[in-house]
Amino acid sequence: MPTADLDALVEEARAAIAATESPDDLTRVRAGYLGRKGTIAEVLRGIGKLAPEERSQVGAAANTAKRRVETLADERRAQLEQRATLQSLEEHRLDVTLAGAAPAAGHLHPITRVMRDMVDFFVSLGFSLEEGPEVETDWHNFEALNIPKDHPARDMQDTFYLEDGHVLRTHTSNVQIRVMTGRQPPFRFVAPGRVYRHDLSPRHSPMFNQIEGFMVDERVTFADLKGVLLAFGRHLFGDDVELRFRANHFPFTEPSAEIDYSCELCDSQGCKMCSGTCWVEWGGCGMIHPRVLERCGIDAQRYQGFAFGMGIDRTASRRYGIPHLRHLFEGDLRVLEQI
Ligand SMILES: [Zn+2]
Repeated sequence: MPTADLDALVEEARAAIAATESPDDLTRVRAGYLGRKGTIAEVLRGIGKLAPEERSQVGAAANTAKRRVETLADERRAQLEQRATLQSLEEHRLDVTLAGAAPAAGHLHPITRVMRDMVDFFVSLGFSLEEGPEVETDWHNFEALNIPKDHPARDMQDTFYLEDGHVLRTHTSNVQIRVMTGRQPPFRFVAPGRVYRHDLSPRHSPMFNQIEGFMVDERVTFADLKGVLLAFGRHLFGDDVELRFRANHFPFTEPSAEIDYSCELCDSQGCKMCSGTCWVEWGGCGMIHPRVLERCGIDAQRYQGFAFGMGIDRTASRRYGIPHLRHLFEGDLRVLEQI
């Protein structure tokens, strides 16, 4: 093949390569010229049949043509790839001016918030935080608190018994016993935690949270108890709240009282939340029974103390307007996220 024809071949290849629109297209066209069965390979194969004086000239020209077509194909491939990249960038354009989606932030459970608020209040009065086990011995939960085996208060508390004779604590008062045993007054402690009773209704749950507070020293009186509880009530329900103490009986305190606070919702008119009475049950309290102090090894002639306990969940349900306690325990995010 004369060298002029090779130039024409390169020009033809240039046009064909320029007309390709995709890498696959280009691969196919390139193979038509440069492949094993391509036009240029054919020329190179034909060199052997040429006259010896022509061979080197045609061979050199064919190799030059081969390199030119290779260069043209490489340039076109780079162009096509760049075009594909630009096209992809255009299709997947990222609008950085769009407003972002805010991630959902979690929050503490309403019971945890109320519990921490209560503990913070007592810490500000100089009380310390104590905790005790939820699986408790009969002695710590009942006997030491002046509730012997045959005492009717055991039935009132609907106890969960374990097979080995332990109980799920029915109140946080076990912490009182654990703190006082082996230590000497003065004591000022607050103990929040879970307690368990075999009871289920809209107003009751078999597991609920209680906070217990107690103070023991040489001259602690019922007036101190009332003062502490009034300050606590004002902290939780506002400065206008009033407390009412109704005489009651608990085995572990003497005298004992139930505490009500004035309904903060109805302004002395009576409403659904207080069943029209203007008072809401809050908890129990009293002066620690001398027998309880003695069981813990404390001289009841020298020391007196008060103790009180109330439900945390009911306080939380009132604060956040949740009608049924179980809504607080079901872990339903639709409810909890509204709070
Ligand atoms: Zn009311």
